[in-house]
Amino acid sequence: MPYTQAQATRYDAIVIGSGISGGWAAKELCEKGLKTLVLERGRDVQHIKDYPTANLRPWELPHRGFTPRKLIDENPLISKAAGYGEDTSHFFVKDADHPYVQEKPFDWIRGYQVGGKSLIWGRATQRWSRHEFVAPEKLGYGMNWPITYDEVAPWYSHVEKFIGVCGNLDHLEAMPDGEFLPPFDFNCVEQHLSESVHKKYKNRYVVQGRWAHLSQPKQIHLDQGRGQCAARNLCMRGCPLGGYFSSNSSTLPWAQKTGNLTVRPHSVVQSLIYDERLQRVGGVRVIDANTKQVLEFSARIIFVNASALNSTLILLNSTSKRFPNGLGNDNGVLGKYVMFHNYRASANGRVDGFENKYFFGRNPTECILVNFRNLGKQDTNFVGGYTTFTGAYRERGQPLDTVGGDYKDAISRPGPWGIYMYMQGETIPKADNHVRLHDTQKDQWGIPLLVTSVGYDDNDAKMIADWRAQAYDMLDAAGCHDIETRDNNQAPGLDIHEMGGARMGRDPRTSMLNRWNQVHSCPNVFVTDGACMTSTGNQSPSILYMTLTARAVNHAVDELKRRSL
Ligand SMILES: Cc1cc2nc3c(=O)[nH]c(=O)nc-3n(C[C@H](O)[C@H](O)[C@H](O)COP(=O)(O)OP(=O)(O)OC[C@H]3O[C@@H](n4cnc5c(N)ncnc54)[C@H](O)[C@@H]3O)c2cc1C
Repeated sequence: MPYTQAQATRYDAIVIGSGISGGWAAKELCEKGLKTLVLERGRDVQHIKDYPTANLRPWELPHRGFTPRKLIDENPLISKAAGYGEDTSHFFVKDADHPYVQEKPFDWIRGYQVGGKSLIWGRATQRWSRHEFVAPEKLGYGMNWPITYDEVAPWYSHVEKFIGVCGNLDHLEAMPDGEFLPPFDFNCVEQHLSESVHKKYKNRYVVQGRWAHLSQPKQIHLDQGRGQCAARNLCMRGCPLGGYFSSNSSTLPWAQKTGNLTVRPHSVVQSLIYDERLQRVGGVRVIDANTKQVLEFSARIIFVNASALNSTLILLNSTSKRFPNGLGNDNGVLGKYVMFHNYRASANGRVDGFENKYFFGRNPTECILVNFRNLGKQDTNFVGGYTTFTGAYRERGQPLDTVGGDYKDAISRPGPWGIYMYMQGETIPKADNHVRLHDTQKDQWGIPLLVTSVGYDDNDAKMIADWRAQAYDMLDAAGCHDIETRDNNQAPGLDIHEMGGARMGRDPRTSMLNRWNQVHSCPNVFVTDGACMTSTGNQSPSILYMTLTARAVNHAVDELKRRSL
């Protein structure tokens, strides 16, 4: 159903961005009775109706699912993204439309549409451990978070129950359990890997993926109009079953049912408007993406959820007499401490002894080798931990030809088993890893371009070296041969876990946001996407953004009731 048109200019709340975190802000605000306007720069994408490739078979796609050279040549940057192809490219931006300036190489991967990157995300949803919130300060590589695991845990549960997360209860301190639906099974070689690794290393665990998939929907999911994941593994085309979580299938339609939601697509937020008299943000300045008309919308509270770097850009561009360097930026911290996940290393090996076994069905999740580094104390020559994603696959028989009967026979014969692994490593928050506005260059809406100045450091290099050595040894322990480990040297950003820029903290002198994600010096503005992150941890981040968003909305509404906002 199309969303309500924005007729009014005044709302109780405005949410900027309709992706993973914005969708959650909209749902929670609308459920609590606030008339909420979601401003989204991209086009509308309606669940099911706007998934044009969702049910196409390879031979129904123009290039049978291969990405044509023209698409790559025209989009050399975005086409590097995981899952980008002719069947999914309509959910990614086009390079030419959205330039930015890379002072250091940084692949900024974006999906500008209603639903944002929730349509194309990988769906890994592990909780942070208790340890990850305190490690940076304890081990001397960053600042403490202003919140603890215990404060966040009930909100994790709140989110998990609604979005549906499958996983096993593994009782591990390094990756706490949540409210899980049944996990997807290991295949026989994954089971073997899990047992071999744990046999050799008592503190290492390969467990089933924790993924935002409805392996067995509950009533709350059926009420959203979603159904069981059919393990089609075509998720990034949009799932007509609602088998995985996206804003489009879940939070936005849920918010719409309250009657309190208005979504305005094609609305590029240029800045927040600071009211010097009231000493708060009174509204939002928008440029209509199509007409270039400048519009203003006002509200009592503003949730900034345009994704980490865009939210930072909007705040930097929100200048006023009170805040000449960007909203809330009294301390010069805005735009600094930009972080990412270190995804550079991967490994593969082949394993014998399972030739008489096969796997049944597909698995949209991956196994997780839980972080075992620097837990509570530093036990390596680097700081931070790493999560490893892994899985076992069976290759197809190798055909000698590319057409004909022999080819068909060869590919229908199973080949050898293999195991892959890749890392997701924590990176250190650093002031010099920053973004800022370009002095002169502007985009097609007259908004300054973002300059990215973000790079790796020596800690990352040491972590990569350790990961490669450990991956080799663990594959060896599983009896693999032909083991290879590699460093792809990819630029930061391609991990698509960009974080920081407006970090949370206890001290207004060193952070932008307080423990409720409010801008310290302008508390009716909440930033609850990746921009708020104080450190990166080693878990996939998006479920934490959803969790912090729900927690912040609850606080905002309490404050509104108390009339302190
Ligand atoms: C291939 C891929 C795999 C991933 N895998 C995982 C994973 O397994 N686990 C995980 O945790 N994360 C994963 N991620 C990352 C995840 O998608 C992001 O962390 C998440 O989407 C961030 O949510 P968000 O709400 O901050 O931003 P988004 O979902 O990007 O939404 C931001 C929205 O704001 C809009 N917007 C931007 N600027 C403006 C503006 N000026 N005015 C108005 N609207 C604006 C955008 O158009 C967009 O719709 C993956 C991402 C990709 C692409």
